[in-house]
Parts: sequence; structure tokens; C-alpha cells
Amino acid sequence: ARAALAEAPVSPGRLADGSPIPLLANLGSAEGAEQAAVLGAEGVGLFRTEFLFLDSVTAPTVAEQSAQYERMLRAFHGKKVVVRALDTGADKPLAFLNNAREENPALGLRGLRALRASENILRDQLTALAQADAVTDAELWVMAPMVATVDETKYFAGLARERGLRTAGVMVEVPSAALLADRILAHADFASIGTNDLTQYTLAADRMLGTVTAFQDPWNPAVLRLVGEVGAAGAALGKPVGVCGEAAADPLLAVVLVGLGATSLSMSAAALADVRAELVRYTTTQARQLAATALAADGAGAAREAARALLLTFT
Ligand code: PEP
Ligand code: MG
Repeated sequence: ARAALAEAPVSPGRLADGSPIPLLANLGSAEGAEQAAVLGAEGVGLFRTEFLFLDSVTAPTVAEQSAQYERMLRAFHGKKVVVRALDTGADKPLAFLNNAREENPALGLRGLRALRASENILRDQLTALAQADAVTDAELWVMAPMVATVDETKYFAGLARERGLRTAGVMVEVPSAALLADRILAHADFASIGTNDLTQYTLAADRMLGTVTAFQDPWNPAVLRLVGEVGAAGAALGKPVGVCGEAAADPLLAVVLVGLGATSLSMSAAALADVRAELVRYTTTQARQLAATALAADGAGAAREAARALLLTFT
């Protein structure tokens, strides 16, 4: 009975009306993959590859990388796995990618900008991913971090497709990318909203700085409005829009994000059960009503309270 319980499949993420909202895991290592699968992850929505190489002094080789990616992809055979290209930056510097001292590293040569400045490293990573993809059967999607422009989107998607990677998307975590989501999604296969950085940049509040945490609240209607822009663009173009920032792990906010157009949610595996249980309580119409109510508030706290008050009126 114990074994049967452990193997009992967890039901997939869905709303009360049956609309599927795949619930995916955020991972930083291959080791976390099995545990995430046990907790009901329907795939991986964000594999943070930079975590694999935080201690590396020199750039990892194609062979080193493909071995790691292969291992992780095997844990999710048949399932979607979104791998993010190395996201070096303020909070996670990679010695082999960014050495420059910058006054404002959050606004500096980070994410895709840093990869573009060392294009051989990006090329190697995409080659390693294509090699791992060829010998595994997960559905591999690749995406670029910290994309700010349409030009960067075209650049990344072009390099990925050159290597035979079929599904190439971008993170939306810079306000400019959210505001131009319709044009960005014309060139990308999907978008994934990173609410951690999107909140940081929208509110101009360093996510590493304790003195400004009050501003770091993804319930802020300014952030929600940007999420809604991306959701609307995705719906208009028929392209998936995921959310992979911490906001997706807040059960009620997860419902609001779906109401704003998110088609999948990715989070640390420990949060999956609570989000799954909350989503299934609401219909698509109710999720949209909650989103509209939160959007109409003046601030983060008011948005949260308004959504809580509204859900009490649902029968
Ligand atoms: C984000 O910014 O929301 C995100 C998911 O990426 P990271 O937290 O790794 O910067
Ligand atoms: Mg980010």
C-alpha cells in the first residue's frame, strides 16, 4: 500500500472548468528532477543552468554540459523541459562570463547581453543542448534570460534554430519586453515571465536589498498590468505564456496570473500542491474576475485584499 501511495499519480493542474494549467518545476540541478516528478511536476518550466557552473572558473565544455543536460532530460522523458541559457548577473555572477566591475550590475552586461558579448559560450551551450536533445525524449524548449528588445529575441531564436532546437523563447523580466510582447512573440515560440526581476525593474527596487522589500511585491498592479500585456499578446498570437517567478508559488496570485493570461506556471516543487489545490477551485471566468479586481487596485496590498474579498463572494 505504501508503494502504491508513492506511485499514485498526482492530478495535473487545471481550473474548476477543466481548463489545463500545467504546473511545472523550477530546478537548478539534475538531482532535484526526480523529487519534482514525485511532487507532481508536469515538466520543468525553468532550469537555471547557471547554477550548474557557479563555481567554474573556466567555461564548461560542450561535453561537460551535454552530460548534465542529458541527465536532467532523462528524468522528464516525454515531458516539457524549459532550459534557460546561462543567466549571469548581479545576484549570480559567473567568473567565466562577466568580469567587469559595474556600478549597477542589475542594469549591466548580464543575461543574454553577457552571452552575446561572449557568443562562443552561448553557441557551445546551445550545441550541448541540441546534443542532449538528440539522445533523450523530453520535449526540450530553450529560452534566453533578461531579454529587453525584439532584436535580442530574433538573435537568440536564430542561433537556437540554427542548431536544430525547435522551440525557442524568451524570458519576460524587463518591462520593455513586456510592453513589446506582441512584437517579441512574433519571433519567439513562447514567453516565460520572470516576476522576480520584472518586479525589481518595474518598481526600481533591488531584489537583493532588504531596505526596499516593501516595493518588491508582485501583487503591485503595475506588475500585473505588464503580465496582462504579455498574456494578451500570447493569446492573440496563439503562443504559450508561462510564469516562472516566485509569484507563481503564491496560490491566490497564481489564479490571478492565470486570469491575466498565463497558460502554465512554474515554481519550486514544494509549492506545487498548494497551487494545484487553489487553481481547481476557480473557473476561467472567476480567474479573470479576480485578475480584473487586482488590476483595478491602487497598490499591492489593496490588490491582494480586493482579490480575497471577491473570492468570498464566489459560491
Ligand atoms: C525571475 O527573475 O523571476 C526568474 C524566474 O529568474 P531568476 O529568479 O533566476 O532571476
Ligand atoms: Mg530573472
